[in-house]
Amino acid sequence: MKYRKKIVIGNWKMNLTVPESTILIQKLKKEMPANIKSEVVVCPTFVDIYSASEELKNSQILVGAQNVAEEEKGAYTGEVSVLSLKGFVDYIIVGHSERRNIFGESDKIVAKKAEIVVRHDMKPVICVGETLHEREDKLSKVVVLSQLEASCKHLTGEEITESLVAYEPVWAIGTGQVCSEAEAEKMAGHIRGLVKSLYGEKVSESVRILYGGSVTGSSAKSFKKSKNIDGLLVGGASLHHQEFAAIVKNFDK
Ligand code: PEP
Repeated sequence: MKYRKKIVIGNWKMNLTVPESTILIQKLKKEMPANIKSEVVVCPTFVDIYSASEELKNSQILVGAQNVAEEEKGAYTGEVSVLSLKGFVDYIIVGHSERRNIFGESDKIVAKKAEIVVRHDMKPVICVGETLHEREDKLSKVVVLSQLEASCKHLTGEEITESLVAYEPVWAIGTGQVCSEAEAEKMAGHIRGLVKSLYGEKVSESVRILYGGSVTGSSAKSFKKSKNIDGLLVGGASLHHQEFAAIVKNFDK
């Protein structure tokens, strides 16, 4: 099996001002255990990307963005281009359920975003996940796989290898209700299976799959053993330096 580097991504959402995030970064740098093998990424708001990337220069923590415009340039008031992010971030989250559900982003838009990110040599973190209703209707697998297939439809095998897929059941986001390791691992297996059927075995063994949804320091431990889960996407707990460092430590190999 191909070696896939573990990764923990913190999504700060719209929770911190620039001075607040500077304080959090300083605390995180001190708290982060040494000799961590996983990649660690924080995703501040756009307005904070530049100062966060300056603060994190020469540290083991990388910077990501929470979103990006699907177009490169032009009359798109209020949007942020991939060109503005280039050089400052390594990862860009696309299709987070809050973008899909609050801002109406379709799979088609997510697919354009994933494509634009990868073509500019950054890594898209493509989020997929079912709602509570869909889960209750036993539609989780169908929903997740159809979101993924549509969201990566412009990507070549090489490009999907550079992309990450985050399985984030919507019912587990910000609710304190963590999906069990067994259930998340099963879905990650289905995701890898879809990638295999679309791009072949070699590609499917390279793509990194993350779980996200109410992860804490203690629940992070249970995902450490998951065969198909290579990373964690963390919302609320990433705002607390000790908790986030505990997640990294408990998930790291
Ligand atoms: C998220 O929004 O991606 C997320 C995983 O949030 P939380 O950890 O707060 O559930």
